[in-house]
Amino acid sequence: MKNLLTKTVLIALLSVVVISCSKKNEITTEPENETVQNQKVLAYIKNLGFTDAQIVENGDNYVADGDIVFSKNMEVPADNGKPITEQYYNGNIVTNSTNIRVKVDPSINGMISEINSAINQWNTVPNSKIKFVITTGTIYDILIKVDNTIGSSTCGQAYLSTSNGKAGNTVWINQNLIQNNSFAQRQRTITHEFGHTISFKHTNQSTTINVPGVGGTDALSLMNGGQCGSGATVLSAKDKQATAVLYPL
Ligand SMILES: [Zn+2]
Repeated sequence: MKNLLTKTVLIALLSVVVISCSKKNEITTEPENETVQNQKVLAYIKNLGFTDAQIVENGDNYVADGDIVFSKNMEVPADNGKPITEQYYNGNIVTNSTNIRVKVDPSINGMISEINSAINQWNTVPNSKIKFVITTGTIYDILIKVDNTIGSSTCGQAYLSTSNGKAGNTVWINQNLIQNNSFAQRQRTITHEFGHTISFKHTNQSTTINVPGVGGTDALSLMNGGQCGSGATVLSAKDKQATAVLYPL
């Protein structure tokens, strides 16, 4: 009887030890992996030319230069974002550039005219094959939606295009912030964010990466950052030139 009791106590104790161990393992391994992944993504963002001061952590994402969003879960490209040639974009050309399907979330139905105007700007760039189309289907490349929590001075945010040739799949618009702007400025915000989804970065960002043959500053660029409510409302000559270089017919 005493032996049986001892055995039972021993088994019970052992079980506790085993359970504690597996719990400990779970707790220690997960954050480590997460941290390594986060560091990879951070290194990638910096390789794209952003400085520490330009990168803000926000939940599951990092936000660079105000409105360029990187998911912490993103797959970091093998070249780690280092430019291969002279560029002014993230290096990831969208491969289905003739049919980029945009799904309009019901939250932003009130800005459908602005969305159409933005799409028209990109679709009418001379010598470019970029074509956005609105889809009501369940399969789409970009979802555009309202998010009024992205920052008190951030008009919109977007993912950049991915290393496997996909458009950045989400555009967030701060409707509360831009609704009192002019129509031209509201559609500028959307045109600008769509520009990020097809790989454009900020023209006025200090970086060494230029679109071939279309480098340098451009005060008229719609892709200048930090100009919420005040920037260019139509794609500049150089914006169009750069689009035609990246997406030639
Ligand atoms: Zn931007």
